[in-house]
This record gives sequence, C-alpha cells and structure tokens, in this order.
Amino acid sequence: MRILLFGRDGKVGTVLMAALTAAGLDAIGVEAGEAFDASGFDAAVDFTAPSAVLGNATATLAAGVSCVIGTTGLTEEALAELDRTARDNAVACFVAPNFALGAVLMMRFAAEAARSFPAAEIIELHANTKLDAPSGTANATAAGMGGNVPIHSVRLPGLIAHQEVILGGPGEILTIRHDTTSREAFVPGVLLALNRVRGLPPGLTFGLDALL
Ligand code: NAP
Repeated sequence: MRILLFGRDGKVGTVLMAALTAAGLDAIGVEAGEAFDASGFDAAVDFTAPSAVLGNATATLAAGVSCVIGTTGLTEEALAELDRTARDNAVACFVAPNFALGAVLMMRFAAEAARSFPAAEIIELHANTKLDAPSGTANATAAGMGGNVPIHSVRLPGLIAHQEVILGGPGEILTIRHDTTSREAFVPGVLLALNRVRGLPPGLTFGLDALL
C-alpha cells in the first residue's frame, strides 16, 4: 500500500513513519509548506494541526483517496465538510480522537459507569505543545456519558496523553484512568484504520470503536 503521511516530522508522525515502513507499507511523508499530489496513493494519514488538517484532507479526498485522520480540534462544521467531500468523491474519511486501544476502552467503561453514578468530571492531561483544549478524547468521552460532564485540561511539559474520569456517588468514588506512556500506543489503531478504511462506506466514520 502507498500511504501519504501528513505531519511526517511531528511527534506522532516520526513514530508513524518508522512503524508504517516496518509494517511493509510504502509511506511518503509531507511536512508543512511542502507541495503534494495525492493521486495514485491508496490512503492518507494526517497527524498535523487543527489549522492544517482540513486543507490536506480536502485535497486528498478530492483526488479520490481515503483519509485516516488523527489530528484533533476539528469542529462539527469541519467534520460535516469532510463528510460531504468524502461522499462527493465516493471515498471514506475515518477520524478518531484517540487511536490507543486503552483509551477507547476507557471511553466505553466511562459510558457504562455514567449510567450508575449521579455525577462525574473529567481531567485530561497533555503535553504543553498540544494546541486544542479540551482534548478530542475528553469531548468524545463526555459525549458518550450523555454530555454535560465538566472537563478540566492540564497542559505541562513531560506529559504525553492522560485522562481520568472520576465518578462520584453517595459514599463512593470510581476513577477510570488511562495513560499513554509512548506514542507507540497509536500505531496499532492507525494500522487497523489503514487496513479497513478503503472498505468503509463513502463519507465520515468516527471513532476507533467503529472498527473494533
Ligand atoms: P506535532 O509534534 O506538532 O506535529 C505536527 C506536525 O505536522 C509538525 O511537524 C508540523 O510541522 C506538521 N504540519 C503542520 N502543518 C502541516 C501541513 N499543512 N501539512 C503537513 N504537515 C504539517 O504534533 P503531534 O503531537 O504529532 O500531534 C499532531 C496532531 O495529532 C495533534 O492535533 C494532536 O492532538 C493529534 N494527536 C492525535 C492522537 C490520536 O490518537 N488521534 C494522538 C496523538 C496526537 P511544523 O512544526 O513545521 O508546523
């Protein structure tokens, strides 16, 4: 498979570039400001920035190439535009706020626990270089819990991606915590998405849960 990787030199992109090559895929990286032609690629992956992802993905989808997007901070309007562009070009666009399996399970467990506890709050902690807050994972977790869950964002050097969902009830507290200790955590989810994206229906598919 020929893969176009947007964000080649970024923190995630560097790990992905090595992992895609190790998995036997032919990965070509693109960085900010570099010209690209998506035609002829089997799929594209984007781990860039909220301001860059829509331009990259629109051009890629318009070339009839499926996209796997990990970049967070996409608005509802941006997701709707990706859905429209993908449908118009009869290709799939897969977006996941978190490609780590443990994080997906955390979201599932939190959704289940929210049905039994009267109150909950989320603390999400990321590197100080992360541009968006709250994180896409925290927003997706809150939505899965029925919405209206306060989210607290911490941005500090030394962190990668961490989240605690704290649920409170009379006389008890339940804490569900996930820690990403290395960006290798995102690799299996991205490879799974790349293997599946061309078989997905045209338009937007959201969340790793949809592939598990
Ligand atoms: P990063 O270290 O800042 O890397 C982003 C890279 O993208 C940089 O090298 C940047 O170049 C490059 N870039 C910017 N605009 C571009 C463009 N138009 N075309 C191609 N490359 C471009 O950030 P990161 O930590 O790798 O994270 C990237 C994104 O993925 C963020 O939105 C983050 O929240 C998200 N993320 C998602 C997951 C998930 O599981 N879904 C996991 C981790 C991170 P410059 O530095 O020159 O601008």
